[in-house]
Amino acid sequence: MKIAVIKNDKIETADTGTLSLNGRQGAVVKVLGCGLCGSDIVKFVHKISPDGTVLGHEIVAKITEINSETDFKIGDVIVTSHHIPCGKCKYCRHGNISMCEHFKSTNIFPGGFSEYVYLTEEHLLNVAHLKPDNLTNIEASFYEPLGCCVRAVKRANLKSGDTALVIGLGSIGILMAQALKASGINAVGCDLLPERVEVLKSFGLEAYTELPQNFEADGIFMTSGADKAIDTALKYVRSGGKILVFSSTPKNFGYANNEIYYRELTVMGSYSPSPVDLQDSLEMLKSGQVKVSGLSTVYELENIEQAFEDTMSNKIMKAYIEVTK
Ligand SMILES: [Zn+2]
Ligand SMILES: [Zn+2]
Repeated sequence: MKIAVIKNDKIETADTGTLSLNGRQGAVVKVLGCGLCGSDIVKFVHKISPDGTVLGHEIVAKITEINSETDFKIGDVIVTSHHIPCGKCKYCRHGNISMCEHFKSTNIFPGGFSEYVYLTEEHLLNVAHLKPDNLTNIEASFYEPLGCCVRAVKRANLKSGDTALVIGLGSIGILMAQALKASGINAVGCDLLPERVEVLKSFGLEAYTELPQNFEADGIFMTSGADKAIDTALKYVRSGGKILVFSSTPKNFGYANNEIYYRELTVMGSYSPSPVDLQDSLEMLKSGQVKVSGLSTVYELENIEQAFEDTMSNKIMKAYIEVTK
């Protein structure tokens, strides 16, 4: 089977052996396509993942072999995510599911940028769903990234009618703004790139390169890790408001102690989705509350390196790697 693998600071396609259940529980799926996530870029660029790693986790795939207690069967087209919380540890009991050791240690094998992937029974039981008929494969591949946004919206716990500012209108910012709107929040976006502002406007939301005078938000959603984004957040958050951190920064810098203290700010993070967030995400995609058409640019697996380059240079919003035609 074909895979795209990290080797000597590059991503190369290679042919490896086949993948089968060999008596295990779970399923082998043929990957139809896989979205390229910002976290894949971070892992590659900052050399977090060693040689031999197959990245990718936003998969849409067809079941080709199965041994499971679930109702899934051969031929089903599914979406799934990669991590599963244990539900019992101190992190899970406090709602911090993505800090759970089990969550961190579970994954799909070898990774989404592969012709075939092995899913455990746990994946099938907790985070896999049939792809809704009214969604294309590309649209359905937003299941996991939108799930991350749904979780961030829930964690911020804003009140209905509150105003939220989404800083950074890459594909995640576009999803975040729509997830906020779907939750009854008045979402406004900003980005330095006019074409990205236009994309959010085309989805029927307010967006600016320069925010109106006296603009103020109850919650700020940081989908950009640029230096300036933190200044923008502190400028527009109302006193007593919340800043939801949803992006890493190039170096270690942060929020000012005195600003948090005197302005009674809440600065919080949100990382990865729970199984319930993922279910909500699929509902939002299925019902059309969150629209994703036109966000993706399609690349073949052989051209995956180009997909990484075009994403990093902001040439495209989101790459979708078509693994099987
Ligand atoms: Zn992702
Ligand atoms: Zn746990």
